[in-house]
Amino acid sequence: MNRYNADNYLTENVSFSVLFILLFFIIFKLGILKSLNLKRSFTGLVFAPSIVFLSCSSYVNTKNDSNSPKNTSDTLTAAFDSFKDRIKTRKDNDYFYIESNGIPDHQMMVGITSWQQQVPLPQNYSGTNAWSIPLNPVLSDNPVSTKDHFYRGAIAVAVNGIPIFNALNNRGDDALLAGELDKWGGHCGKADDYHYRIAPMNLEKIVGKNKPIAYSLDGFAIYGSTEPDGSSVKPLDENNGHFNKNKIYHYHGTSTYPYTIGRMRGVIKTDGEQIIPQPRLTPTRPSLEPLRGAVITDFKVKGEQSYSLEYTIDGNKNYVNYGLNGSEYKFDFVDYLGKSTTSIFKSNN
Ligand SMILES: [Zn+2]
Repeated sequence: MNRYNADNYLTENVSFSVLFILLFFIIFKLGILKSLNLKRSFTGLVFAPSIVFLSCSSYVNTKNDSNSPKNTSDTLTAAFDSFKDRIKTRKDNDYFYIESNGIPDHQMMVGITSWQQQVPLPQNYSGTNAWSIPLNPVLSDNPVSTKDHFYRGAIAVAVNGIPIFNALNNRGDDALLAGELDKWGGHCGKADDYHYRIAPMNLEKIVGKNKPIAYSLDGFAIYGSTEPDGSSVKPLDENNGHFNKNKIYHYHGTSTYPYTIGRMRGVIKTDGEQIIPQPRLTPTRPSLEPLRGAVITDFKVKGEQSYSLEYTIDGNKNYVNYGLNGSEYKFDFVDYLGKSTTSIFKSNN
């Protein structure tokens, strides 16, 4: 039974009332009240049970509120279907799993004006290291804010298999306003892992405007600029979402903070500042420092696992040409005078 259904909610409350009236009637009929000489407190006896009933009904209400749409596996399968040539999905009783290599099919990096010199490298989000979305999301009594939590790891996964991190970077600054994001709302972490930090609204063009563009790690869908029924977005709550008319919760991507999830409306498990389960990252090379004045101007996929990133400093073009060569990643750092420096790292993925 879908306990989240409004009709069922009503049925449960009605059965509670009927049960209670019956019980009260039996007690009265049996003359228990009289024999106990409690006539004077008759009023109290009516009031007290009313209070008991009210508590019961609010308990039922809470119970309903903390339950969720039933298993969402069909909607999840449909949501990720547009990218089935790039990602693999599977499920068990508890989770829907998404396997991807962490590289989207759109261009990346261009537009970044605050760059930590990390570049997109394929990641091993497969097997036991796949992304996991709960199939039976449960509403939380205490939604946790993304303003001061979840600075580590992802909070959602886009339907193209790319993770979405907190819109605030690990210093608590808005990554978009800080110039850290590309034209698609993404950039790379210290493990050269590409991820979005705002809603990937570009995906709406591929999946359709009334379809989810991502799923939160609490199990609820994130839609873009349209409601599931095609109408324009209704007012959003503090979590950046709301219930649809079937009383199922969803979030929306927005162009201003919090961009994706304001507070986790669903129950989540955490390990420190990170939601679990989620994939572990295995860096291929040591992380680098911010490169002052760099503006990323181009990014090309040159071949299978071969890339070229172009950036300017004071208008001078520099390049990072890199790719997989056997089991090693070869990085050529080419400065504006044409001088090249090479680094080689063993691939972990
Ligand atoms: Zn909505």
